[in-house]
Amino acid sequence: MRSLTTEYHSGKEGLAVISRVLRVAPRKLVWQVARRYIAGPTLVDAVATIRSLNDVGFTTAVSYLGEHATTLTDCDQALHMYQEVLELIRTLRLRASLSVKPSQLGLKLHYHAFLDRAGALLAQAESLGTFVRWDMEDASCTHCTLEAYRALQRRYPNTGVVLQASLRRSLEDARRLSATPANVRVCKGAYREPADIAHHRREAIRQGYVQILRILLRAGCFVGIATHDAVLISAAKRLIEMYRVPPTQYEFEVLLGVRPERAQRLLADGHPVLVYVPFGQQWFEYSTRRFDENPQLLWTIARATLLGR
Ligand SMILES: Cc1cc2nc3c(=O)[nH]c(=O)nc-3n(C[C@H](O)[C@H](O)[C@H](O)COP(=O)(O)OP(=O)(O)OC[C@H]3O[C@@H](n4cnc5c(N)ncnc54)[C@H](O)[C@@H]3O)c2cc1C
Repeated sequence: MRSLTTEYHSGKEGLAVISRVLRVAPRKLVWQVARRYIAGPTLVDAVATIRSLNDVGFTTAVSYLGEHATTLTDCDQALHMYQEVLELIRTLRLRASLSVKPSQLGLKLHYHAFLDRAGALLAQAESLGTFVRWDMEDASCTHCTLEAYRALQRRYPNTGVVLQASLRRSLEDARRLSATPANVRVCKGAYREPADIAHHRREAIRQGYVQILRILLRAGCFVGIATHDAVLISAAKRLIEMYRVPPTQYEFEVLLGVRPERAQRLLADGHPVLVYVPFGQQWFEYSTRRFDENPQLLWTIARATLLGR
């Protein structure tokens, strides 16, 4: 599925085409650029990245790459990996939580099979004092993910969900979530959805984003402000000030390697900042999606190839 942000760079469609060509490029070449966005293929790589981020004041959310499990065996494999991550978080005293794609634990295969696995993960996370957020995937998952979140949150308070500002339904979802003390990450949305259910214009998405933030912050929800957009970061800061939101009730959230200077500045200004740290063997698929979102990165690859660095 093409990313929504590709649309923002409408003048760069040629680069987006190259991005698709890159899907068949040598992995070694793609890794030259991808390594900025991914901790590495192994859990050891993830731990090293988390430690270095923790050392300078960032908290982290660990994401094991992979989605759309096609068998329950795949789901169990992902569950075991996340359980291993939780154990390491405890043993090494890392400032880290989990960010999990529900389809990885079977949401698209069998709703109750997903709930069982999600419950097992949350029970372990709760006993270790850690938090699990359910990423939001394409629009076919929105309803089930929110339903599952509500069901799980009744038993496990250490869980959160995501709203995508590009979806037209998200304003209403924000109102519903604000009735309970929900924990919500707000992002623009990474999936291109049809116009009857999603905004495509940058300004409409920004407007929706700010409205959702306003609803959730006013209601006293914990809000993860996930964006690298300077306009939205400024709007969020104004709302935080206006509603006197304490730093225990929000955090800015960024993707590893994306606009690191903005994250540093937020941290230096005293805001809590979380970095999303993906790791795993499926780094190639994750990276080609990043190139779709930011085709300029392809020039970096071209330069590295031509100049040998
Ligand atoms: C912590 C975090 C968690 C997220 N979780 C989800 C989720 O659960 N579900 C979901 O649908 N989406 C998720 N997203 C992605 C989000 O929906 C957007 O697609 C993405 O963040 C880009 O939007 P932006 O607000 O940063 O603004 P943009 O205007 O797209 O970006 C602002 C600037 O940052 C750069 N930039 C932004 N994103 C990237 C990137 N990926 N690679 C390279 N450069 C980039 C752009 O070049 C631009 O200059 C998440 C994002 C973050 C930061």
